Amino acid sequence: RPPTFGFLLDIDGVLVRGHRIIPAAQEAFRRLVNPQGQLRVPVVFVTNAGNILQHGKAQELSALLGFQVEPDQVILSHSPMRLFSQHHKRRMLVSGQGPLVENAQALGFKNLVTVDELRAAFPVLDMVDLQRRPKTTPLPRSDFPAIEGVLLLGEPVRWETSLQLIMDVLLSDGNPGTGLAEAPYPHLPVLASNTDLLWMAEAKMPRFGHGTFLLCLEAIYRKVTGKELRYEGLMGKPSLLTYQYAEGLLRRQAERRGWAAPIRNLYAVGDNPMSDIYGANLFHQYLQTARREGAEEGAGGPWKPQPSTARSCTSILVCTGVYNPQAPGSPGPASGGAAPPFHGHRDFGFSPGLLEAAHVVSDVLEAVQLIFRKEGWAL
Ligand SMILES: [Mg+2]
Repeated sequence: RPPTFGFLLDIDGVLVRGHRIIPAAQEAFRRLVNPQGQLRVPVVFVTNAGNILQHGKAQELSALLGFQVEPDQVILSHSPMRLFSQHHKRRMLVSGQGPLVENAQALGFKNLVTVDELRAAFPVLDMVDLQRRPKTTPLPRSDFPAIEGVLLLGEPVRWETSLQLIMDVLLSDGNPGTGLAEAPYPHLPVLASNTDLLWMAEAKMPRFGHGTFLLCLEAIYRKVTGKELRYEGLMGKPSLLTYQYAEGLLRRQAERRGWAAPIRNLYAVGDNPMSDIYGANLFHQYLQTARREGAEEGAGGPWKPQPSTARSCTSILVCTGVYNPQAPGSPGPASGGAAPPFHGHRDFGFSPGLLEAAHVVSDVLEAVQLIFRKEGWAL
């Protein structure tokens, strides 16, 4: 019988650790893939990474998992920007590192300016690094077309440069060569991905994520203008937009395979309570409210999602990544005593209850076994 459930799998800390596959993931996929090498249920891979390419990630996963992962099964933190087609033709400043122009183009943006290009066009803006200050006074540019929006795809390097130039663009209404007496408000549209404040790498203590960069930008904007920086779209886990986008891809996958039954139950497996669990629970809450009220609202501004066919989104926390019940101070349900500091983003509210996973299992294999049991599928 066709599946009526689908998987949203986080990648780092669930399937891989560094560049190595977690053995339980290999075992899990032996159950998820049929002898013809096809998935038995719809699966999307949802990561908050952003400074990488979607097809590169799909290739990497294919090699690690031993079956063909299609690029449209991979959701990066900025993937839902594809839905903001009203901005695709506008001239957008793009911030991040790595293949950021290629990434923005893949999302549909056609007219891009990088922070480095802006810096080259206006050499008098970037003044923090004495070494990078111009030695002479360049002529002011008047032939530089105005910037019409800002895309924040992932953490950049040289934060002082990006913070300064993004502020310049917002305060000058896209004409950083000019000075305005008053900053326009609302400011130019800003789309941002990945609000993770911290992430775990090899170091013993967590590292800065894109959320820390956003926190700096928001703080500077508030301090300078007295107003709040507003995002027209804020994506990546735990945003509703990411889960709505993921559900759309799962639905399309099921249609392509000819599975007629609607996908009712979503299972989100992750290692990070703050993004994976909070997001899955937030989406579950949204599905419940939407069903009760009989109407759905899009979380992506003017973008209207197709109505959800899902009834539930179940959060499942694994212990192979960030969350470690043995480590004192580890975030999540087992931390006990004082509540951990909230690392989530301003715009996602804070409900401590949403950090509690519906299930805590040791690894993704146990998660798959649990889900198959719940759905009455043979293991
Ligand atoms: Mg993870």
